[in-house]
Amino acid sequence: MSKVFSKPFTQQEAIPEDGIEAAVTLLRNGRLHRYNTIGDELSAAAQLEQAYAQWQGSDYCLACTSGGYALHIGLRAMGVQVGDRVLTNGYTLAPVPGAIVNAGGVPVLVEIDANYHLDLEDLRSKAQASGARFMVLSMMRGHIPEMGKLMALCNELGIQVLEDCAHTMGGAWQGTKSGNFGVMAAFSLQTYKHMNTGEGGLLVSNDAEMMAKAIMHSGSYMLYERHGAAPAKEVFEKVRLTSANMSGRMDNLRAAIALSQLPHLDDNCQRWNHRYDVLMQRLQRQPDIDIPARHVNESYVGSSIQFRLPKLADEQVAAFLQACAERGVELKWFGEAEPKAFTSRYDSWKYLAPSHLPNTLAILAKTFDMRVPLTFDVADCELIADIIAEQVGIFMQTNKV
Ligand SMILES: *Cc1c(COP(=O)(O)O)cnc(C)c1O
Repeated sequence: MSKVFSKPFTQQEAIPEDGIEAAVTLLRNGRLHRYNTIGDELSAAAQLEQAYAQWQGSDYCLACTSGGYALHIGLRAMGVQVGDRVLTNGYTLAPVPGAIVNAGGVPVLVEIDANYHLDLEDLRSKAQASGARFMVLSMMRGHIPEMGKLMALCNELGIQVLEDCAHTMGGAWQGTKSGNFGVMAAFSLQTYKHMNTGEGGLLVSNDAEMMAKAIMHSGSYMLYERHGAAPAKEVFEKVRLTSANMSGRMDNLRAAIALSQLPHLDDNCQRWNHRYDVLMQRLQRQPDIDIPARHVNESYVGSSIQFRLPKLADEQVAAFLQACAERGVELKWFGEAEPKAFTSRYDSWKYLAPSHLPNTLAILAKTFDMRVPLTFDVADCELIADIIAEQVGIFMQTNKV
């Protein structure tokens, strides 16, 4: 009998008890709106901004409705105007080009390299050809590029960077937290990210004027003084009447849920990496499985794993996925031309002007992806890796016949 895995790939851990209690208290008193406070009470949304800014090591933080929304108003606050070109990774999730379009920008997709990082040569040529002055650096699936080199190139080219840290919350490059390199950074609190409030987003920055604009855009009305990690009142005087209200505030319920998870975040990142490292080591024993190396300066958070099967033919992919699924292992394939579930390939975003990224397509055609929820323990990861390795072995065997 071959081994089968039976846990669901989409089950998250419970919300911490103090988060449940805080949520129930809010349900009882009904003060769910972030500005619905009594006296000098600091709302849960404001407390989250304060706590996250401190944890992240940034001056300012804004809590809002989603990661995609944080990217959108971040770009506006950075000064993106209608028609401006905005560079971004050719390998990213659909909300990223969507946020650029929402801000009036025109996405310019840049190739990735074999380590899922932006290709710096392509970045230079696309930046020069398009004249782009903005970039959303999307660290899709938590792969942090060589930030020193990347930021030096962006400075040279006059490009302002907004970091998309949806998968790198808690990650770092050479000891500096992901999100502390660009002028702004966006995080997601959506269920499958590193803190789970269902939906939610955080925008951080050290730039006072940009953050004041973002807070106005988020729909603060003239209540910005009730924020937890906002610039001084004087900064708002300059922007408060010229920044449109684009209503995307976080409510106290979700903020309370996030607040209860923040103290566990560092520990959870380590728990993810423990699982990731077990998966990686076991998968690497199978010589036909390729896992791109991580740079020594990269502190990643292994909440998902990507591996490549260079010798698996395109015609074999469906059968391989099916065979793994039958044994309880849910893999995603990024080579799929038709967008499925959460994954989508850039050429399925037909609202963009067509672009051709042959290297990105070639890498994605061989890439498989798996989520690693914390409800899996280390033994689960060993079993999953063994199942994948075994199935790869079976398919490679058929190739030889
Ligand atoms: C999830 C995600 C986002 C957007 O987050 P939402 O909160 O779902 O809007 C942005 N970029 C990447 C890479 C993501 O995975």
